[in-house]
Amino acid sequence: MVYPVQGKPPVTQMRVHPHLPNVDEARRAFSWDSVARELAWLPGGALNMAHECIDRHVLPGKDKLALIWEGKSGEEERYTFAQLKAETDRFADILTGLGVKKGDRVFLFLERVPELYFAFFGALKMGGIVGPLFSAFGPDPVKDRLLDSGAAVLVSQPDLLQRIQGILGDLPDLKHIIVVDRSPGAARPPRPQPDPRELHYEQLAKAAVTTFQTTRTSKDDYAVMHYTSGTTGKPKGAVHRHFAIVQQHATGKWVLDLHPDDIYWCTADPGWVTGTSYGMLAPWSLGVTQVILQGGFSPRAWYAAIQKHKVTVWYTAPTAVRMLMKSGDELAARYDLSSLRHINSVGEPLNPEAVMWGVKVFKQPIHDNWWQTETGAIMIANYASMPVRPGSMGKPTPGVEAAVIDQNGKPLPPGAEGDLAIRPGWPSMFQAYWNNPERYASRFQNGWYITGDRARVDKDGYFWFVGRADDVINSAGHLIGPFEVESVLVEHPAVAEAAVIGKPDPLAMEIVKAFVALKDGYQPSDELRHSIMQHARARLQSLAPRELEFRPSLPKTRSGKIMRRLLKAQELGLPLGDTSTLEE
Ligand code: ATP
Ligand code: MG
Repeated sequence: MVYPVQGKPPVTQMRVHPHLPNVDEARRAFSWDSVARELAWLPGGALNMAHECIDRHVLPGKDKLALIWEGKSGEEERYTFAQLKAETDRFADILTGLGVKKGDRVFLFLERVPELYFAFFGALKMGGIVGPLFSAFGPDPVKDRLLDSGAAVLVSQPDLLQRIQGILGDLPDLKHIIVVDRSPGAARPPRPQPDPRELHYEQLAKAAVTTFQTTRTSKDDYAVMHYTSGTTGKPKGAVHRHFAIVQQHATGKWVLDLHPDDIYWCTADPGWVTGTSYGMLAPWSLGVTQVILQGGFSPRAWYAAIQKHKVTVWYTAPTAVRMLMKSGDELAARYDLSSLRHINSVGEPLNPEAVMWGVKVFKQPIHDNWWQTETGAIMIANYASMPVRPGSMGKPTPGVEAAVIDQNGKPLPPGAEGDLAIRPGWPSMFQAYWNNPERYASRFQNGWYITGDRARVDKDGYFWFVGRADDVINSAGHLIGPFEVESVLVEHPAVAEAAVIGKPDPLAMEIVKAFVALKDGYQPSDELRHSIMQHARARLQSLAPRELEFRPSLPKTRSGKIMRRLLKAQELGLPLGDTSTLEE
């Protein structure tokens, strides 16, 4: 079978990549020990992520800038590593002063304000397990996660607490609520009915000291807890240990190509794993300066931020790239984006069209990489030193054994579609699904971790995403991966986004049904439907959608992933299942 996404020529625009000149060679003779030795560690073989990311970069006479923060109204704050050390020490001191113990869960329900970063590393310093929550969540998703994790501390802001006021009484394990109020001079009127557990950060901070001896956590102690995106069902609480920093550090170099003088921007919110593994841990473990924007997505604001801060390395997501494409090339041309040296994307498959758009607008390809909440770090990637095959996720990183396997765990030959699996034991592998050991165990079979994604490997070792196992369509004996079909649909000039599902059919078992959102300036019509269907048929023949429905937009998780299961449930008139992460 010919796979249309493999039809584009490779982009051979490459750069010298001192960190990883050749991934195939690097994979051959590799041991994680050598990377682990690049870290500082603590006396007695202890390891703490906060020490690696903050304290060890505080060097006498060299106080490097760690964070350039831009608030919603354009105000800016800058923090050096020494300042971050003081603020995170202070937070650790506050928590221990409140009696919070090693292993307690400290959850953060905050916008992207500097205190989020202070609290994250402060909690790690005192040995807590830290769980960031996305600030756009409503009361129910917050309640589910706080109850499931048995969180002892919640750090939040007045507006956000007001939003979840109704659930605070239902959280018996929660002992303290630390309120961060950034309004000038605390000008805001007090919350009408504050919870008796509320404490004011400003007051706590005044009483706390800014020197704290980081807890000597072991490499296997739990550090960070993240609920998955909920794309395929109820979100699971994946737990990571301090040792994960080894892999985050390494991939920050190999994949993001970070160097000491870079200005790096990761657009993901720390409520999702990308926003912590690569919006905090990887770059700061390498001592790199980061830009963080409090505000949400807007093409103008994003281009302006790259121009203003001279961002050199950028890590974003396909949904953002599609929205930038939708906003038009002319807009991008109004900004000076020439500082950008390396662009990466994760979260969903990156359509070949988007890779090529990068070449046109940013003068370089966008480098797709693949990983999951459970893997803790990037597993498969396109590297600066390797030709990009548009539509491919790239090759496994050194130290990662990935394969496409059959149901018995046997690796399949090149070109065959199967389950994407990883050999367990990588440093950032999740250590548990909180409260769910059965589910955790079920992910490991025949000596492999089963990712839940379907893929193929080509003869040169590049991995190609087919779809999530639940989303693969079985039509008249053909297994059809949604990504192939969607990638062809978005090539049509009118199509901004596309999602396909299998719709039950008495003859074919399933037929392919497409849902399409149009670019600005296009209106749904029978003519347009015909034109899109014709384009798909010419490229896909029998794999082309048989039905096409226009939608103003497609349902997505708050982390920007298209929720095909919701489209399918709506189509079949079935219950929608867990919608706690659905974007409103
Ligand atoms: P849930 O597990 O709750 O259904 P989720 O799988 O979307 O949600 P995440 O861990 O945030 O939660 O996402 C990981 C998944 O995202 C991967 O398993 C894969 O399906 C998809 N993904 C991430 N990056 C890529 C990529 N580069 N190409 C294709 N798919 C990707
Ligand atoms: Mg998943």
